[in-house]
Amino acid sequence: MSLNETAPAKEAFEGLSRIEGFLSPGSVEAKDPTVRATAPGPVLLIGAPGVGKGTQADTLAKIWRIPKISTGEILRANVTNGTALGIQADEIMRRGGIVPDHVMTEMVAGRIAVPDAEAGFILDGFPRTAKQAQWLDGHLAVHRNFVQLTIINLHMEPQKIIDRIIHRRICPWCKTVYNTRLKPPRLNGRCDLDGSALIQRNDDTIEVFQERLDAFKRETEPLIEHYRGHRIFMTLDADRPAPMVTLDIVASIARLTS
Ligand code: AMP
Repeated sequence: MSLNETAPAKEAFEGLSRIEGFLSPGSVEAKDPTVRATAPGPVLLIGAPGVGKGTQADTLAKIWRIPKISTGEILRANVTNGTALGIQADEIMRRGGIVPDHVMTEMVAGRIAVPDAEAGFILDGFPRTAKQAQWLDGHLAVHRNFVQLTIINLHMEPQKIIDRIIHRRICPWCKTVYNTRLKPPRLNGRCDLDGSALIQRNDDTIEVFQERLDAFKRETEPLIEHYRGHRIFMTLDADRPAPMVTLDIVASIARLTS
């Protein structure tokens, strides 16, 4: 990648610093009282792999001060730590498959029972199948008194996602996500926050991505219809700089709940 190709994208991101400042934790209500920064309860981020769910979940978790629950991240931590679950999941994840539903629902039940998730939580990568969605509906009915879900469906054309996936790098330590083209680290190959050597996920290859995309189309896309009738449901264009997508999410929720 030449400098000339990288510079405009970098500038575009730097130009967005005003939006990022606006979205910094605690500043949203202060700067625009019409934008609600209180947690909207349980939030689902739905979208194809690589569409930017994790990045949005990280920012929204800071704004709303509720935990992000990324089932993919929990699974990867298990793989790194060599747990029995990690050993079982590793092979499935390497080929872009879907980990069995009962494993995932047990994992999510345990995580949302932690007190920090009482005011709400952001699910990133769950539910991924009809069984998981049914389980979640039932679980929230019983344990959260039928609390209303907020569903954010992030949409992007697959070809654009492939472009993002092959340039995606993550910090193995703090999990910050970079893009060598759109959001490069300040120091080549090193995390801005802790200096760790950035890595590429072993399922971020074109071949495995195709499998993950097929799994998404087969198992997860039908859930969009399941959720479309909910009062707080939105489909947003994810093919924009991340801070703009965040702003759109926060403003859309404010609109739909006011
Ligand atoms: P992600 O980080 O969301 O892209 O997930 C990475 C991989 O973890 C997926 O390709 C699946 O193999 C597995 N995984 C994550 N979440 C789930 C889920 N809710 N159900 C089944 N498998 C999952």
